[in-house]
Amino acid sequence: MRGGRRYRLLRGIVSLLVLRYLAEGEECGYGLRRRISGVLGEALPPGYIYVILKSLRGRGLLDAREGSRNGRRVVYYRITDSGMDFLLRHRGAVEAGRRAIEELTRFLEGRGGESARGDRGRRQTYWRRGARCAVPAGSPGRCAICGRPAAVRVPYANASFCEEHYPQWLERRIRRVADRYGMLDGVRRVAVAVSGGKDSVSLLHALAGLRGDYGFDVVGIHLDLGIGDYSRASAEAARRNFEMLGVEGRIVDLRARYGFSVPEAVRAVRRPACSTCGVVKRYALEEAAEDAGADALATGHNLDDVAQFVMMGYQSGDLEGLARLRPVIPAGRHYGVRSVKPLFLIYERDLAEYARIRGLPVVGAECPLRDRTSQGFIRRKLLEIEEGMPGFMLRLVQEFADGVQPALAERYLREEDVGTCRICGRPTSKGREICSFCAIRARALGTGAAPGATG
Ligand code: AMP
Ligand code: ZN
Ligand code: ZN
Repeated sequence: MRGGRRYRLLRGIVSLLVLRYLAEGEECGYGLRRRISGVLGEALPPGYIYVILKSLRGRGLLDAREGSRNGRRVVYYRITDSGMDFLLRHRGAVEAGRRAIEELTRFLEGRGGESARGDRGRRQTYWRRGARCAVPAGSPGRCAICGRPAAVRVPYANASFCEEHYPQWLERRIRRVADRYGMLDGVRRVAVAVSGGKDSVSLLHALAGLRGDYGFDVVGIHLDLGIGDYSRASAEAARRNFEMLGVEGRIVDLRARYGFSVPEAVRAVRRPACSTCGVVKRYALEEAAEDAGADALATGHNLDDVAQFVMMGYQSGDLEGLARLRPVIPAGRHYGVRSVKPLFLIYERDLAEYARIRGLPVVGAECPLRDRTSQGFIRRKLLEIEEGMPGFMLRLVQEFADGVQPALAERYLREEDVGTCRICGRPTSKGREICSFCAIRARALGTGAAPGATG
């Protein structure tokens, strides 16, 4: 069980939390797990809650009854009188525990801020009311690691950091996410997809920093999409970062390689520009990563991106799309490289601060082809919720990745549904002979509309 050590330490606290929630009324194991995971700021390992429930029941602190919900059998737990007594008698112990944990937190943060998530239970709102972008209000206070005046406030972690310790803290977080989801296990060469924007540039620097510890090397890949000045500036930013780090960098010109640019593809097919571009990029990046001899491809999708995908998937009921949305896509029959998103639990705002503080060369300009759709609206609304409930997006995405997606995958991700493209041999969606990329390419090159083409 991953994170076993953490949960061994928390066991007593989780038991008390179980009793605390049952003191309000009966609840099932799933509901208890969800509420307690919300307080901890990360999902309890599946099964863990049942071990605790069993032990509390064995001690007579709660009892259970079988019920049903939506036709399914569910066990409901409720607190007994002795459970209530037990909970109330622990006030002093909880106080003492809180002081001990504060002391430990101070020590551990002094050793490198590994525990900034520890006191996320005390939520506060640090966001300026009505602010259009995510700017923390007021003074950020003092650095959680060294106590000097802080430069950045991280609301969901309820912590602040100075300019020296903030990048270290963020890099550690990225590393923890990568470890927890096994993104870099056994990887010898990582291709990093660098668009030149703050997210993927930050990712490149963070992964380059792990080369020594993990023993992999890094190759940067930038796709020149052929979008005029925007693409020229992006390629330049990518190149400067490759040089700065001394990593091998490859710039793949889409037109030279596949015969068409993104604007040409967008003109040729009837579908939103970003969706066409997304298909083309994903395909070209995978190929470029394979060509570069990488065994993993890392992209800079951040927490805000993924939260937005999740909400849009819920809204449209796209269960297959949601089932495919994963932090790690293993290499397989159709994919030569593992595909990973090490930033999927990192807020966009935190990445912007990282790039700013480290003075990384990034392009700020938005893509001129970007279509104005409901996406931007959903994103802004998510940020508004986050403002009032720091940590909301993090929980949304983490619960999705740990609980919802695996359940959807069991039902909707079937290997036998994946076809093979008649033209290029890569995967196609169910019932299609030609993959989306080849269909777009055929249109863009004017070599005839392929059957089952996009549009
Ligand atoms: P986007 O599709 O623009 O949201 O970008 C998502 C991720 O795809 C980025 O963080 C990059 O890792 C990768 N990416 C996007 N555009 C490019 C590009 N032109 N070259 C290389 N990687 C890219
Ligand atoms: Zn500091
Ligand atoms: Zn194809």
